[in-house]
Amino acid sequence: MDGVLAGKGGEWWVEVVATVRSWLGLVAGWKGAAMERGKGGRGVASWPEGEEEEGLEASSWRKREFLEGRRGEAYGYGGEIDAMRAAEFSRLKGTVYLDHAGATLYSEVQLRKCLGKLERSVFSNPHSGSSKGGGGSFEAARAATLSMFNTTGEDYYCVFTSGATASLKLVGESFPWSAQSSFLYTKDNHNSVLGVRNYALDQESEAAAVSVSAGSDGRFDIDALGPLSRPSSPGRGRSKRRGGGGKSVNLFAFPAESNFSGVRYNLDVVNELRGRRCRIGGRTIGGGQEWFVLLDAAKACCTSPPDLSKYPADFVAISFYKIFGYPSGLGALLIRKDSAKVLQRKYYGGGTVKVSVAEEDYFRRRDEEDGWEDGTLPFLSLEAVHEGFEQIRKLSFQKIEDHTSALTEYTAREMDAMRHCNGERVCEIYGRHTPGSKDTKAAFEVGQGPVIAFNLMRSDSSYVGYKKVETLGEARGIVLRTGCHCNPGACSGFLGLTPEETRLNFESGHSCWDDKDVMNGKPTGAVRISFGYMSTFEDADSFLEFLRGCFLERQEPLSRDLTGGANGTTTSTTTGELALSGIFVYPIKSCQGFRVRGSWPVSESGLFLDRRWAIADESGAILTQKKVREMTQVSTDVDASRTELVLDAPGMVPLKVSIVGGADSSALRERAGSWLSSFLGRKCRLLETSCDGGNFSNQGGCLLVSEESVRNLLPDDDQEAVSKACMRFRPNFLVKGGAPFQEESWTRVSFGKAVGLEKVRECGRCGMIGRDLLDSLNKKRKNLNFGVLLSLSGGGAAAPQAEVAEGSSVTFS
Ligand SMILES: *Cc1c(COP(=O)(O)O)cnc(C)c1O
Repeated sequence: MDGVLAGKGGEWWVEVVATVRSWLGLVAGWKGAAMERGKGGRGVASWPEGEEEEGLEASSWRKREFLEGRRGEAYGYGGEIDAMRAAEFSRLKGTVYLDHAGATLYSEVQLRKCLGKLERSVFSNPHSGSSKGGGGSFEAARAATLSMFNTTGEDYYCVFTSGATASLKLVGESFPWSAQSSFLYTKDNHNSVLGVRNYALDQESEAAAVSVSAGSDGRFDIDALGPLSRPSSPGRGRSKRRGGGGKSVNLFAFPAESNFSGVRYNLDVVNELRGRRCRIGGRTIGGGQEWFVLLDAAKACCTSPPDLSKYPADFVAISFYKIFGYPSGLGALLIRKDSAKVLQRKYYGGGTVKVSVAEEDYFRRRDEEDGWEDGTLPFLSLEAVHEGFEQIRKLSFQKIEDHTSALTEYTAREMDAMRHCNGERVCEIYGRHTPGSKDTKAAFEVGQGPVIAFNLMRSDSSYVGYKKVETLGEARGIVLRTGCHCNPGACSGFLGLTPEETRLNFESGHSCWDDKDVMNGKPTGAVRISFGYMSTFEDADSFLEFLRGCFLERQEPLSRDLTGGANGTTTSTTTGELALSGIFVYPIKSCQGFRVRGSWPVSESGLFLDRRWAIADESGAILTQKKVREMTQVSTDVDASRTELVLDAPGMVPLKVSIVGGADSSALRERAGSWLSSFLGRKCRLLETSCDGGNFSNQGGCLLVSEESVRNLLPDDDQEAVSKACMRFRPNFLVKGGAPFQEESWTRVSFGKAVGLEKVRECGRCGMIGRDLLDSLNKKRKNLNFGVLLSLSGGGAAAPQAEVAEGSSVTFS
């Protein structure tokens, strides 16, 4: 079994997958990438016989159905897709990449062509020598960019920037804001657009999020969701009145496609607003008002760039990695030539001026794009733009759009149809996937891009946290995005969060990228999958099988007793005495630890020697099991007097080094470093924590794991299997007896009489414990926490340095 089934790590996962199948009886498994690609062509694939055939057959049957279905024709560039994936994206083996809205992938052929060009050529600074003034390839890149939008250098400037964000900022800082102007933006906008309002507010302009809808006469109504002004300038915006001679210059910003949901917006707004035919706040735009449109096309250009010959937005922002993956750090701002005069640049830098005088305030800006591009352009990256467009041109945007939308439609339908055994929905999908479903603004929301934003629900209609989806997906090589994706307006809109709730959630500790995914029963973000031009049916199918396998409840849970409360109220029938059955120390982060015989010192920084060392590569980055699997084969031990560390690994002569501080410690690091380098096959060194304080543990504190809880996760009660599984959680303290998950309700634990520890928090788990245990946690528990982190700090009664003894009785409160 390989491909997606094998996840990221190779053989290790294979075992896990085999186990999970027998344990949990997952029927279909994760067949996607294991299918033989390119065999037999469309719809007539023949599948190899073998152990996997049931799942493979099911998948092949689903594929056939998809290809023969409504949009099957649109899929796959006339049968080219599988060959393209094999030849140009071979690195995706084992990965189901579904974050093209985050960044799409470059083709390996495209990359080789770019690197080949760099390898063969001598490039100098474009301001030097023969290439002075930009050089042909810049102009070609500008022309190709403009042509993507169906326009030319006659109507637009194409200014290169470091990306869409920089483009938006450039407009924000150059726009002639005044107390007479307004900045209106749809609620669905990227943070990089919202940030423009700081420039507006600074100049006492009015700023507001708006909704756009179509009136019965077909005109757009733009209505503020509440005006904004700075609390620091009370009354602002009240005294000033529009009109009265002075012309007001205003900016309206919206995305062609939402990066949160993939909803596409009606670009007619561009013409309507520029022609002053919209109503703003119920009133037709007056003659003294001039409106400019800032179009964020960063997401739309992934598969469907707007046609600027039809919808001539004034300013358009893009990033190239969203279109063809490479290079990153390069984007463009398209400026309509007619509208360019309104922008007032402040800064100038190298390359942007024709002349400037050091002793006097005298300079003349360059015309055209040069006047906007400060400093030396990323000329090497620009060389890559050509290959990127070449890649797209081979397929054409129309075919890319057909292909990705066929996949999106199929996946969204399947998700929409998914039901738990009691008939409740599994997926709450956001966007416009089922036309006319829940919108009254159909005229502004006109389509759906290749994005599916959603949250998952249990059969009791409670939400599954997005973090859980991310972690379980990651363990299968599925790359997706969770959270609000830098689009707070769309996020809160779909999730029904008021600005108050968002602020309250933040004040009670939630911020972007953290794991507080459900607060007060409401999700704080969503899961997003998105397709790119090289996405396949198998990607979609693997993802759907992931949802079916992990989140679809096929039968009523036998008992609900583990799913209530914070992470389950536990049945609290204590079975027998609790005892400390094992103490484990892991001297080197990510390597094997050893079991303590007798007793062991514990202090505020944890167990003596625990995670005292870590292995770093040449650049100083700390190596982990995730990156270097071989580290799991390095065993560690110390001698009885705790003065010598012993390292061992298969095929190596064991290394003994003294660990009694002083001058010896650098000798230890040197010898251990070269021993480890030779075993791990890469140059590395041993890092030591500064002195007594601190260790290299990620989570902080000592991890307590209960055997009973582990037993509860396993399919059958086999003591050997329990003991083995316990070690996969890498506990410091293993306790025996009591009831499963009882430890989660403790706040204080004592081992014997001498040592008391405080609970820091529960330990969030990732794929490192193995997919079987992770899946079992998912089935049995509300979140993926397992084990409790304890710390001596704040222990009060405990001595600053105490010893814990194996076999001690465990008491808790
Ligand atoms: C990605 C994205 C941005 C930001 O682009 P950067 O490359 O991070 O500058 C802005 N808006 C939308 C709609 C996007 O998808």
